[in-house]
Amino acid sequence: MGVSHEVLRQRLENQRARLLEEIKQFRITGRDNLGYGNHQADDATDAFEQAKELSLLQNAERVLAQVETALARFEQGTYGICDRCGDHIDPARLKALPYATLCMSCQQHTERT
Ligand SMILES: [Zn+2]
Repeated sequence: MGVSHEVLRQRLENQRARLLEEIKQFRITGRDNLGYGNHQADDATDAFEQAKELSLLQNAERVLAQVETALARFEQGTYGICDRCGDHIDPARLKALPYATLCMSCQQHTERT
């Protein structure tokens, strides 16, 4: 039977809480960095670090949006159903990627096009 949806939902809620915390921390440290930008020699490094952090932040926000979408689908009763073809998503896939909204073949299809 694999993992029940209730377990996956719990995992998604935990993940959402973790991502929200992460994004909050990014925002706090981002503000601090601006205040400490007085070391000229470190400017290049700082810019690089900021770019790296920004991409991490954008990634966290993107995953958060997917997690939110998946949680909303529990409310709608459509969790675990492929967005594109309407088939049930492989439970093993959901276990690995609880916020997946496409089945494996649709996912591969969208990545190709
Ligand atoms: Zn599909």
